[in-house]
Amino acid sequence: MAKIYYDDDADLSYLKGKVVAILGYGSQGRAHALNLRDSGVDVIVGLYKGSKSWKVAEEDGMRVEEVERAVEEGDVIMFLIPDMVQPEVYKRLVRDKLEEGDMLMFAHGFNIHYNQIVPPEFVDVTMVAPKSPGHLVRRMFVEGKGVPALLAVHQNYTGKALEIALAYAKAIGCTRAGVIETTFKEETETDLFGEQVDLCGGVTELIKATFETMVEAGYQPEVAYFEALHELKLIVDLIYEGGLMKMWNAVSETAKYGGLTRGKRIINESVREEMKKILKEIQTGEFAREWILENKAGRPVYNKLLEMEKEHLIEKVGAKLRKMMPWLE
Ligand code: NDP
Ligand code: MG
Ligand code: MG
Repeated sequence: MAKIYYDDDADLSYLKGKVVAILGYGSQGRAHALNLRDSGVDVIVGLYKGSKSWKVAEEDGMRVEEVERAVEEGDVIMFLIPDMVQPEVYKRLVRDKLEEGDMLMFAHGFNIHYNQIVPPEFVDVTMVAPKSPGHLVRRMFVEGKGVPALLAVHQNYTGKALEIALAYAKAIGCTRAGVIETTFKEETETDLFGEQVDLCGGVTELIKATFETMVEAGYQPEVAYFEALHELKLIVDLIYEGGLMKMWNAVSETAKYGGLTRGKRIINESVREEMKKILKEIQTGEFAREWILENKAGRPVYNKLLEMEKEHLIEKVGAKLRKMMPWLE
């Protein structure tokens, strides 16, 4: 079982006298910077000239500088800019400004795990990855609570990398909830696998296949929309709150029997075999190579697939039906 750290395992004094540079001020960046500051940590935000976030950070009363300057001042440098932008920014603005004993931090392991960023041996390299979007990282902190996070140490030059990373996790509120120790490899590979087969890829294809099957059989798209997409939220909310059993206990006897007997015919052996192939592509780095190349080519496949998704009938029907739901904005 996993090792889990709580408030008592973490000591904020490991950040004393240090400046934490937060690169990026988006979903995670803003939440981390505000929570660190409210925990008494000296924070500087690193952005680029013309960045939309610059004004937001200044309005929050943050000290904002260009990335290079923030890295110069920072002893702990947290990368909260988009993952696909990090390697270029690292090479151009960060690498040459690193000093012995600095710490590079990440909230996702992709660039370290797939060697897109290869730090020098004289710095610590760690990860604190909250398991929630930034606004919740901030809201829970303000309420005196926290969100769980993953923590990993990739490089321990100072011998204090774990302690410093734990202090950071405490300062953003995560040790209040619990911080699970992992590795860059485990965090990266499980994150990619989850979003590909279940959270983003699997769910959207399941929704579309369910919808298309009904529409092709002559049912009205509006009615199919409710069954294939709309009601998913009710089901997922129940699972989120109390696991699979809370959902099974809440649905009708007929839904239980139908679901329990038919579900395995949908997610059958051949689907599981495909999942294993997708996992292999992640583990061998094949997916990472493909995605990095796709970015270098200007994202032709990515753009085309997103465009097709936008044009899907379920999106047109959904836009119309959601206007009938006054609780959605
Ligand atoms: P966002 O897209 O919300 O924010 C990115 C920020 O980086 C913006 O402030 C953007 O400024 C800034 N930025 C973009 N390009 C540059 C650049 N070249 N130099 C400096 N700043 C730049 O990112 P997220 O918060 O979603 O993600 C940050 C990291 O956190 C990623 O590693 C991600 O994997 C990880 N993570 C994200 C989670 C989430 O829920 N979103 C959860 C856990 C981890 P502007 O908008 O002005 O261009
Ligand atoms: Mg420095
Ligand atoms: Mg992800």
